[in-house]
Amino acid sequence: MSDCVFCKIVAGEIPSKKAYEDEQVLAFYDIEPKAPVHILVIPKQHLAGAAEITAENSAVVAHVFEVIARLTRGLGLADYRVVTNNGADAGQTVHHLHFHVLAGGRLGEMA
Ligand code: 5GP
Ligand code: ZN
Repeated sequence: MSDCVFCKIVAGEIPSKKAYEDEQVLAFYDIEPKAPVHILVIPKQHLAGAAEITAENSAVVAHVFEVIARLTRGLGLADYRVVTNNGADAGQTVHHLHFHVLAGGRLGEMA
């Protein structure tokens, strides 16, 4: 999508500090980290959010979690939290499906 910040990051039109990349997925460091380590993992294909996951496109979500396991292992992060916000009331500000990976210390409690 032309006006999507994360599509622009995928296209290289907005710079990012990359943590991992393959054909389907990009991982990059959040510009405003909410934990000592805060990485965003996104499918390169534009989906607005978790509510757009279907039987037809859900394989990429399994791949995202596989990437998260490999990436965190590589960074020596045994403990981490994965969060996705769906919709403005849940705190979603960028409407391109993304998974926050938060780590690097004792995280505050969350439901
Ligand atoms: P949301 O609030 O939608 O769940 O998460 C969006 C996240 O994207 C926020 O944590 C925000 O800091 C991050 N973010 C927004 N714009 C950019 C950007 O241009 N570059 C990077 N690296 N992160 C961004
Ligand atoms: Zn997008």
